[in-house]
Amino acid sequence: MLIRSLQSATLATTSKRSVGPRTTVCCTRLPSRRRPPACQAAGASRRYAVVGAGFAGAAAAWHLMEQSSRLGPTEIHLYDVAGLAGGASGAAAGLLHPFSPTGKVLWKGEEAMQAALQLVAAAEAAASRAGCQDLFVWRQSMVRLAATAKQSRQFEKACKQLQQQRQAGAVQSIAASPITVAEARDLLPGLSSSAFDTADLPEGSVAGLLIQGGLVLHPSKYIRAVWEATKQMAEDAKYACRAELHAPLQVHSLEWLQQEHGPFNAVLCAAGAAAGMLPEIGKALPVDLCQGYILDLELPCTHAQAEHQGGGGGSSSSKVDADSSRLSSARQQNPPSLLGGTYLAMQGPGSLAAGATKRSGLTSAQALAACSSPSNSSTHQDRPDVAALRTSANARMPELESWRLASVRSGVRAMPGRTPQGAMPYAGLLPLSNGSNRWWLVGGLGARGLVYHAWIGQLLASAILEGSDASIPMELRRWQLTSYPSNVI
Ligand SMILES: Cc1cc2nc3c(=O)[nH]c(=O)nc-3n(C[C@H](O)[C@H](O)[C@H](O)COP(=O)(O)OP(=O)(O)OC[C@H]3O[C@@H](n4cnc5c(N)ncnc54)[C@H](O)[C@@H]3O)c2cc1C
Repeated sequence: MLIRSLQSATLATTSKRSVGPRTTVCCTRLPSRRRPPACQAAGASRRYAVVGAGFAGAAAAWHLMEQSSRLGPTEIHLYDVAGLAGGASGAAAGLLHPFSPTGKVLWKGEEAMQAALQLVAAAEAAASRAGCQDLFVWRQSMVRLAATAKQSRQFEKACKQLQQQRQAGAVQSIAASPITVAEARDLLPGLSSSAFDTADLPEGSVAGLLIQGGLVLHPSKYIRAVWEATKQMAEDAKYACRAELHAPLQVHSLEWLQQEHGPFNAVLCAAGAAAGMLPEIGKALPVDLCQGYILDLELPCTHAQAEHQGGGGGSSSSKVDADSSRLSSARQQNPPSLLGGTYLAMQGPGSLAAGATKRSGLTSAQALAACSSPSNSSTHQDRPDVAALRTSANARMPELESWRLASVRSGVRAMPGRTPQGAMPYAGLLPLSNGSNRWWLVGGLGARGLVYHAWIGQLLASAILEGSDASIPMELRRWQLTSYPSNVI
């Protein structure tokens, strides 16, 4: 039963999209004794709607259920035009760590990382309880190579700062240390030697940053597991609680959702790069929409079998044998993921996601269309950007030339404006002119969706229950000042 429930979520993700109010409801598996009678539904339960089933929406739904179900009957309704993980989240490489490209810990990086690790643990526990055997979390180190002498100096400085932060107990969940060229070569034996030459570094300088404590996640399996955890929590709650996925279903406006599916105590917009299509959001969020691609590459069967059999057994050519033994030794050392430029997110033996984000200036209508276009389509595979990404991935790690292209994923991410503290996401209450406080927002997660999603989901859930966003840091609410200056106190 539990497995069937996970499968139904998968079906919702891959099924044909509709844009009308038709809906497929994947209801939580409440035992009949807990199911609230129809007459009880609206009045007694706190009802929340979340628009968007990406990292942000799934995390907020989990936290809302976690906090509200302790107080009384709760309903969480999750809406998505494309199903779970239909937007940028489904296209992500899955790299989870709290460091900026200069090696500094991101603003609130420690809190965010702790919250993300907690949600990952909850997702793993729920998947395991549901009998799901699929791995979706890989714990290994990550390396960012210095691309310039300046970046090398930044890494060195950042590592010293981090050491002080760790000694002061301000940072606990993660570690980073400087590495030399020799150490980097040792850690990344499959990498092309040219990858280490680009920085033109003086002798003895820092060649890269080694990050420990980060994770690589399979994004869509992770989101399905978070949703499964939300449903299990509803099932286990003391009060009658339910979690329903409405997908595929396009929300035309937040007001429309209130009228057609409400009343809701709160509606949270977590529609990612397509949020601007909702009239209540429009251009309220200063974001640049960038399209990116991910190539899912797999070691061909012959290589994998050869390795499994101790090398050489299943291959016919000497090149395959040589590749297999080199890969085998690389894998024994558990090669780290590679950040920066064309990044390589390792997903266990024989599988990785290679990615880059390039084209900017997209519209929210294009972002919405991207949510509804299937991944792995031949249209993606034939695109020049995809061919260029494959070429640059192969150039970084030559043995990838013989790896199979399993799928191509594409997504549009919403890059927030930069601030002195970096590029932080947006969250808070929509300060609409009618004074309504029912509409909430999370967006602009940029390239940092995984590190921030759970922490912001937690902040939002508390604020929604309080009915005020005063507890949400002003850094996340800065969009209110520019978009609604007269409405913000
Ligand atoms: C190629 C690529 C690689 C990336 N790699 C990483 C990475 O390794 N690590 C990392 O942390 N981040 C990564 N990111 C960034 C990360 O994917 C985003 O920050 C994150 O996905 C944003 O999550 P979200 O929930 O805000 O938006 P989304 O994931 O886009 O979710 C929004 C959801 O809302 C739905 N929706 C939109 N409009 C409507 C509507 N009107 N009605 C109903 N549903 C609607 C969409 O279908 C979608 O499912 C990557 C992004 C890309 C594009």
